[in-house]
Amino acid sequence: MLLVKRLKEAVIVIDMLKDFVHGALKCERALKIIPNLKKLLDEARKKGIPVIYANDAHLPEVDLEFKKWGPHAIKGTEGAEVIDELKPQKGDFIIEKRRYSAFYETGLDMLLRELNVDTVILTGLHTNICVKHTAADAFYRGYRIVIPEDCVTTFTEEDHQWGLKYEKEIYGAEITTSSKIIEKWKK
Ligand code: ZN
Repeated sequence: MLLVKRLKEAVIVIDMLKDFVHGALKCERALKIIPNLKKLLDEARKKGIPVIYANDAHLPEVDLEFKKWGPHAIKGTEGAEVIDELKPQKGDFIIEKRRYSAFYETGLDMLLRELNVDTVILTGLHTNICVKHTAADAFYRGYRIVIPEDCVTTFTEEDHQWGLKYEKEIYGAEITTSSKIIEKWKK
């Protein structure tokens, strides 16, 4: 009998922080993904699928990213908090990062291994920046990548589409939707 390997998934929520939604680096388009993401996270928790927040937590003054973007998501400030609508729940994991990739100098890879995860569902901000760099690092480490296109976004539609295309073509990401993922979970 053929043994089919069961894939174990985790949902990674990238930078759904106050500064990125309505603060220093505000992105109007982020508002549109909140309900989709909320539903996906609720269903994941019901299914026992790990939810991992990867949050910018920059050091004041010194952080390299400020040269490019100006100060944002400074560790310990309100701007670095997850937006109220998507507040982490008991049992969720939180990873702090200081660069675009959720893997860079964080404990994410170790955590995913401990959870036996081989498939990362990437959500949050921004399709062409932190989601893209996290996808690159997931690819290098051999994870399968799934991106629900209605749970990621960026400042413009053009950059959003570019990001999705790149992630699909270069990292082999499966581009899907939150409702398709939830439908699959319910089977
Ligand atoms: Zn940042």
